[in-house]
Amino acid sequence: MPEKKLPFTYSQLVKIVADHATPFHIYDEKAIKENAQRLNKAFSWNKGFKEYFAVKALPNPFILKLLKSEGFGTDCSSLPELLLSEKVGITGEDIMFSSNDTPASEFIKARELNATINLDDISHIPFLKQNGGIPEIISLRYNPGKTREGSFIMGAPEEAKYGFTKEQIFRGLTQLKDLGSKRFGLHTFIASNELNPDYFAHTAEMLFLFAVEIKGKLGISLEFVNISGGIGIPYRPEQKPVDLEYVSRKIKDKYDSIIIPHGLDPLALFMECGRMITGPYGYLVSTVLHIKNIYKKHVGLDACMANLMRPAMYGAYHHITVMNKENLPHDVVYDVTGSLCEPIDRFAIDRKLPEIEPGDLIVIHDTGAHGHSMGFNYNAKLRSAELLLRENGEVIEIRRAETIDDYFGTLNLNALQGFIV
Ligand SMILES: *Cc1c(COP(=O)(O)O)cnc(C)c1O
Repeated sequence: MPEKKLPFTYSQLVKIVADHATPFHIYDEKAIKENAQRLNKAFSWNKGFKEYFAVKALPNPFILKLLKSEGFGTDCSSLPELLLSEKVGITGEDIMFSSNDTPASEFIKARELNATINLDDISHIPFLKQNGGIPEIISLRYNPGKTREGSFIMGAPEEAKYGFTKEQIFRGLTQLKDLGSKRFGLHTFIASNELNPDYFAHTAEMLFLFAVEIKGKLGISLEFVNISGGIGIPYRPEQKPVDLEYVSRKIKDKYDSIIIPHGLDPLALFMECGRMITGPYGYLVSTVLHIKNIYKKHVGLDACMANLMRPAMYGAYHHITVMNKENLPHDVVYDVTGSLCEPIDRFAIDRKLPEIEPGDLIVIHDTGAHGHSMGFNYNAKLRSAELLLRENGEVIEIRRAETIDDYFGTLNLNALQGFIV
């Protein structure tokens, strides 16, 4: 089995753990930066190209600041995500507000920040008019229904709750134009964690052709299309990352053959990737508490699915390295578990690993997106710290671990004394 790379050695990790109790997520600044630069470079042929980092993947302002320095905006879908962007000075059209089932307060804040709103439904047009007002620039989210296949995480488009139908896009654009909008974009998000590079070229082609149809039917020249996120990452060591240069070339071919001849150039290409930006560059570090031998062998960690829920929620594979035992034979079959009183609380099932002992340091890979952010407090588990490994080797805490006081903080303990039963 090929091993996956780590940005620290065993002895470096031992030093980090001496200062920061496990479990924690640690992110690799240098790798995130280089990856962001690779994406921008790959799409530099498109003058308006912009990546709006999906904040939900890793909602930490240190990371947002780092990505802002590479020219990224943010893709927000809630009020706190808008506020996180504002905290690091990301405002205006550097924010794409792609939400659904949106409360009024969120539209109002998005309008206050002059964020570009990506509307999820035709009924949101009058709702937005009343709550924040119709902006000059607006994007519509397209759901292609049966014409496209979805993915395991997103489901089939025609079953999904997102977006406008095609006919609604035409009606919606007409309504918005009548209400005063002047600049328009089209968005779609169909698949998540997709590793087939042709998928993204196909999505871009679908939106390019739609842009041509919109121009023909409504006389509206779109300003941008947003193929959103969904670029997968190689969670398994034998998988390969999506070749961004290949995706870019394929999309450029479609741009040259569809957009340019129809007089729609310049059309900006936007993305809202989360997973592929930070996912591979985060690691959940945990210590083995117990080895339990019953019908199966169980490794009990000091982390649980509250720290990383993808394996339990999606049956997702996350590679595991037992530190300082990389070169030992991987010939013991373990379930790697957490301490939740839930049988699904497992990071790995029937995984072949080296012989493990209590005290071993375990690294769970690819937790830089949809990792810490999906955490929760069930079983009164407290969320872990987040650390950043800087380019110079320094480690900084970018979020402390939750404390019992944090957990108790939302309880109305003042009224408990007077609560007579
Ligand atoms: C979740 C989400 C993304 C990011 O998805 P990834 O799979 O992390 O790339 C982008 N856009 C929208 C609207 C989303 O909901």
